[in-house]
Amino acid sequence: MSKTIDKFNEHVIHSYGRYDLVLDKGAGRTAVDEDGKEYTDFGSGIGTNSLGYCDDKWAEAVCAQAHAVQHTSNYYYTKVQADFAAKLCELTGYSKMFFGNSGAEANECAIKIARKYSFDKYGKDAERWVIITLVNSFHGRTVATLSATGQDVFHNYFFPFVEGFVNVEANNTADLKAKLDQYDGKVCAVMFECVQGEGGVVPLDKEFVKAVSEECAKRDVLMICDEVQTGVGRTGTFLACEQLGVKPDIVTLAKGLAGGIPIGVCLTNEKTCEVLTPGTHGSTFGGNPIACAGGNAVLDRVSSEGFLDSVKAKGEYFRAKLAGINEVDGVDGMGLMIGVRLKTKDAHDVAKACLDNGLLILTAKEKLRFLPPLTITTEEIDRGMEILKKILDN
Ligand SMILES: *Cc1c(COP(=O)(O)O)cnc(C)c1O
Repeated sequence: MSKTIDKFNEHVIHSYGRYDLVLDKGAGRTAVDEDGKEYTDFGSGIGTNSLGYCDDKWAEAVCAQAHAVQHTSNYYYTKVQADFAAKLCELTGYSKMFFGNSGAEANECAIKIARKYSFDKYGKDAERWVIITLVNSFHGRTVATLSATGQDVFHNYFFPFVEGFVNVEANNTADLKAKLDQYDGKVCAVMFECVQGEGGVVPLDKEFVKAVSEECAKRDVLMICDEVQTGVGRTGTFLACEQLGVKPDIVTLAKGLAGGIPIGVCLTNEKTCEVLTPGTHGSTFGGNPIACAGGNAVLDRVSSEGFLDSVKAKGEYFRAKLAGINEVDGVDGMGLMIGVRLKTKDAHDVAKACLDNGLLILTAKEKLRFLPPLTITTEEIDRGMEILKKILDN
């Protein structure tokens, strides 16, 4: 085994199931390991390297920022942050945003805003703090976001979890209404992913999301959309919720937002943008200028002419290719967020075989999952699909 792996395992806590692969560098959609072997990348990290490896304009922006100002405290301002925030608000139609460093932090911010919104409006005694989340959701690994996560497998070891989270079955409007009635006057927000990512690439029905939106409006409950995985063009529109025809009060973004540099953002509308006040929330690294420089490069590319249409088209191209594979039982997801159901094979075994043959893919529950760089070409899709087909249909 590689010296790097031995050294790593001797000194880094073993909290992930890692493959025996040491990545050394990358270019475009190709990663290269320590021995010089190349891999086509259908994972982009986990949807983070949205422009692929070391995109020229992105790398230039990041390096230039490292040579200018790499960080300032949040007691001061920087132009790169202002530019990024303005661009993001313009692209999404939201009023203001808060800067964090990860998806979990973006969701922590959303949770705090939702609770303070009700606190400010209804008072402490109202105890209007319940947040409804969905069964099979994933919102992060901090204690609050784990509490929000509607999967029992995550609710172990770390007791006690944060109070005030109630789960509703995804795509079950009757269950939603029943829980809202049961906790009438106590609910401050409903939070969901448009496509449950870690839960196995499970899309929500348009009708269900519409019902969430209507119930929230009727009851002055905030609608929070966790677009940490689905956002920033991944599904073929800048936000996935655009395709579901709703306008949440709060949207969180992270993964692909800065092209592979840590960032997390909580977007707020007119109703929620003044809830946090000086001293109520913060983050030392939040809004890091290097992350913002990378983020600006991502926003420029994703908003460029025809880019989002190309994401949709490539998503369709993937689906057409997958339809020609016998072992494929079905395909879920939106745009370039793709879950593949298999008939007989084990997803993890397939992912390992792909890696051995020069293709990086992800899994989610029992499915294969692809979150390729948004810049992937049809030739690169062909190259990866050829490897996959050989493994699945041999
Ligand atoms: C990955 C993910 C998170 C957590 O993001 P981190 O950056 O790992 O904290 C939260 N929500 C969704 C939907 C995600 O996919």
